[in-house]
Amino acid sequence: MKLEGRVALVTGGSRGIGKAVVQALAREGAKVAFVYRSSAEAAEQIVKDLADENCEAFAIQADVASKADADAVVEQVMEKWEKIDILVNNAGIIRDGLLATMSAEDWQAVIDTNLTSVFNFCQAVTRPMMSKRYGRIINMSSVAAHFGNSGQTNYAASKGGIIGFTRCLATELAKRGVTVNAVAPGFIETDMTVDVRNAAGDQIKKHIPSRRLGLPEDISNAVLFFATEESSYVTGQTLAVDGGLTLGG
Ligand code: NDP
Repeated sequence: MKLEGRVALVTGGSRGIGKAVVQALAREGAKVAFVYRSSAEAAEQIVKDLADENCEAFAIQADVASKADADAVVEQVMEKWEKIDILVNNAGIIRDGLLATMSAEDWQAVIDTNLTSVFNFCQAVTRPMMSKRYGRIINMSSVAAHFGNSGQTNYAASKGGIIGFTRCLATELAKRGVTVNAVAPGFIETDMTVDVRNAAGDQIKKHIPSRRLGLPEDISNAVLFFATEESSYVTGQTLAVDGGLTLGG
């Protein structure tokens, strides 16, 4: 098991991609703490199912947009397991709408949940990781950072911001044995995409060279690579996991 003895913290672990990441890390032997916002029942079920597989996980309710919550989560994990080796900043939301009519609240909610959360959690784990001279930080970006999707100014700004953030922090932490990378998923089958899939699922597939939508496990496999020791010479990178969507073919 590649992550035996490691401690991981995943945000947005109760559903979709985050749930797959929690399961993948735990099944590779990591102890996994994960954050959810409102899906308490789903979170408890994940913990229970993993315990049945002899995997260790626990769930914490918190709002990733809150610095105080992020600090409290990290403190709780440090108290329980004394270190954090792997941080996956996965929690995210969409509040799509044309800029002309977008409310300031919808702008701010997306920036705070998707981008400020990355600042909150990275800052909270940076010192513990630096002192251990080991760390793996993986941030969830999106192909939307590059596409000019109408109605996604807030989302694209948050996901593009994550790519720049990842590169800068990677430079700051490289000599301390901490890598910082991002994954940019394409079109993945989760609750987040359910409306678009229902409206235009088959149309979307035509634009994806692999002719299928992605599964949460396609993303967790990429996260797993960045989370292992074997990826120690890879930092500051953003890996598109999108079935070729961004190749423009
Ligand atoms: P889902 O909507 O399925 O799940 C979102 C997760 O984030 C849930 O666990 C949710 O918790 C949590 N969350 C949301 N807001 C907060 C908050 N304020 N505080 C704590 N937790 C929060 O999303 P996906 O799995 O589809 O997406 C995961 C990540 O991948 C996101 O960052 C998304 O932007 C990105 N992504 C997704 C793509 C896709 O096609 N699905 C494509 C590209 C990127 P709760 O269950 O309690 O609400």
